[in-house]
Amino acid sequence: MAETIFDKIINREIPADIVYEDDQSLAFKDINPQAPVHLLIIPKVRIATINDLKDDQETLIGHLFTVARDLAREMGFDESGYRVVMNCGEQAGQTVFHLHLHLLAGKPLGWPPYTDRMKQA
Ligand code: AMP
Repeated sequence: MAETIFDKIINREIPADIVYEDDQSLAFKDINPQAPVHLLIIPKVRIATINDLKDDQETLIGHLFTVARDLAREMGFDESGYRVVMNCGEQAGQTVFHLHLHLLAGKPLGWPPYTDRMKQA
């Protein structure tokens, strides 16, 4: 799969507000936040979408969730609540084809989490 902007962030070729890093993952602030706290948690290895996940990457995906849990706890949102979202594909709104978790927090979050693009068309 092609390189994305997230590879450039991993390789420090473009700046990002990085809040966490380990050997498998990186977390940074979303450039266009949809909530007071909006972080992206990505694997360092390039995986385009959930469709491209290999069975032996289950642990890696679980790791993204434990990073989200720990960051939410550190920021004090574990009790008040937060949302973790992974978009898959164009109709779900995925724009960067390097799989990532969105961690959203800091205000009451609406549901369903979309504007109806069919109605807008
Ligand atoms: P998605 O639409 O689920 O693919 O999410 C991609 C997210 O990446 C969007 O929320 C964008 O605002 C965010 N984004 C794109 N480029 C950057 C960047 N250079 N730094 C931080 N976030 C970015």
